[in-house]
Amino acid sequence: MYSVKEIKKGLEEKKFSTVEIVKEYLEKIKKEDKKIKAFITLREDEAIKEAIEVDKKIASGQELRLLEGLPVGLKDNIATKGLKTTCSSKILEDFIPPYDASATIKVREKGGIVIGKLNMDEFAMGSSTENSAFFDTKNPWDLSRVPGGSSGGSAAAVSAGFAPITYGSDTGGSVRIPASFCGVVGLKPTYGLVSRYGLIALASSLDQIGPFGKSVEDCIYGLEGVQGFDKKDSTSKDVKLPDYFEEIKKGIKGLKVGVPEEFFGQGIDKEIKKKIEDNIKILEKLGAHIERFSLPITDTGLSAYYIISSAEASSNLGRYDGVRYGIRAEDYSSFEELIVKSRTEGFGEEVKRRIMLGTYALSSGYYDAYYKKAMIFRKKVEKLFDDAFDKYDVVVSPTLPILPFKLGEKINNPMEMYLSDTFTVNINLAGVPAISVPAGFSKEGLPIGMQFIGDKFSEDILFRFAYALEQELKLDLDPWKEGR
Ligand code: GLN
Repeated sequence: MYSVKEIKKGLEEKKFSTVEIVKEYLEKIKKEDKKIKAFITLREDEAIKEAIEVDKKIASGQELRLLEGLPVGLKDNIATKGLKTTCSSKILEDFIPPYDASATIKVREKGGIVIGKLNMDEFAMGSSTENSAFFDTKNPWDLSRVPGGSSGGSAAAVSAGFAPITYGSDTGGSVRIPASFCGVVGLKPTYGLVSRYGLIALASSLDQIGPFGKSVEDCIYGLEGVQGFDKKDSTSKDVKLPDYFEEIKKGIKGLKVGVPEEFFGQGIDKEIKKKIEDNIKILEKLGAHIERFSLPITDTGLSAYYIISSAEASSNLGRYDGVRYGIRAEDYSSFEELIVKSRTEGFGEEVKRRIMLGTYALSSGYYDAYYKKAMIFRKKVEKLFDDAFDKYDVVVSPTLPILPFKLGEKINNPMEMYLSDTFTVNINLAGVPAISVPAGFSKEGLPIGMQFIGDKFSEDILFRFAYALEQELKLDLDPWKEGR
C-alpha cells in the first residue's frame, strides 16, 4: 500500500481524494483480514464521513495537519468515545467508553482517521496475541505462526498493508515483540512521553503507547501524532520535542554503540545472532564506534518484571467486578457471588494467573520476599542503564531471542511464553525508550528484529540509528508479494 508521505503528497496534489484512500484501505481489510484477523472492530461509516470533511478542507485550499486524512488503527485497549473498546476480554466485550484516550484525541486533532480497533492479548498480557478472548491473529509472513504480542493486531495490520500507522501499548515489549515478528518498525517511547490517560491499564508504572509503521519515517509520524505533555496523566513529562525528521539526516557517524554480551549469549537463535552481528558491522561501517560490555540484567529482570507487572495488574483489574465495570454474571445469590462469578466468567486463564501471582506477591507474608526484592532490582536496572548511557549513545540487541513461533506452540507453557520477553522487559523497568527495526530474514523467510535502546528522551538518536540501518538494508517488507 502507501507510505505516510505518499498519502500526504497524493492528497496535497489531488492525485486521489481522502474518501478514495480511506475506502481503499477499508476494502482491503474487508477482503484480506479474513486471513489475518487483525481487526476486532471496523469503523466504516464514521471514517468515511470524516474523510468527506477532509476533502472539503482540501478543496477549499486549507493547510493539512500532520496526520490529515491518514487511516489509523488503534489497539483495543486505547479508549475511543462511542466505539467499542474490549481489551480483547469477555469482561469488556460490550464496553463503549464515554470518552477518548488522550492519544485518541491527539490523533484526531492532527487529522488522523480512526478506521478500527485491533486485536491483542487480553488486557495486554502475552507475547503472541493468542490470549485474546475472541480469536487469534495470524502472522502475515506465515499464517501458521503468531504475529507476536500483545499488540499483535496492530503490528499485523501495518505489515499486511491495512493501515499506514497503528498504535499499540508496550508494558514489557508488546510493541517491539510484534513489530519484530511482523517485520515492521515499532517504538516504545520513554515513560512519560505519551499520555497514558485512557489507555486501559495493565501495569501503570510500565505502560506506554507506541506507534507502528512500515518504515522509520512512518513511525516518526506515528510518534509525532501522539507524543507530548498531557495534564490528565500525572506521569506525563513536559519536554522539548526534537524535529526527528531533521535529526535522522545527521547519520550515526561518531556515535557510540554498546553491545551487551548477555543479550547475545545462551538461548539465542543462531540465525538471529548472526543477523544482528552482521548489522552491527554495518553500523561500524557507517562510522559508529562499537564496544562490547556487560549488562547483567536479562534473567533477574524477567522475574522482577513479572512480579511488578502482575502486582500492578492485580490492583488495576480490581475494578472489573460486574458492578463498576464489566459484564455481570446472570445467576447470583449474594453480592460476593456476583463479583466472584462475574470475574470467573469474564477473565481468561492468563489474566487470572497474573491476578493470583500479583496478589500473592503483594500479600503481607510474601511482600518482602517478592515485591520488595523486585523493586530493589528495578532500581539496579535503572542504575545499570544510567551507567551504560554515560558511555554509549545507544545499546543494541536482538528484539527477541527466538523467531516467530507456531500458533499453539507455547500457549500451554506460560514460562516459555514469558521467556520471549527476555530482551524487552528491562527497558520498561528502566523507563527508557527502545525501537525495533526490521533487521533481515531467517532462511525460512521469517522477519528478524533489531532493538536499539536509548537514554530517556533520546528518541531522536534511536530514529537516527534505525533510519541509518533501514537505508543500508533496503529490505522488501511486503509479505503479500507474488511468489512469497
Ligand atoms: N509479554 C509481556 C507480558 O505478557 C509484555 C506485555 C506488554 O508489553 N503489554 O506481560
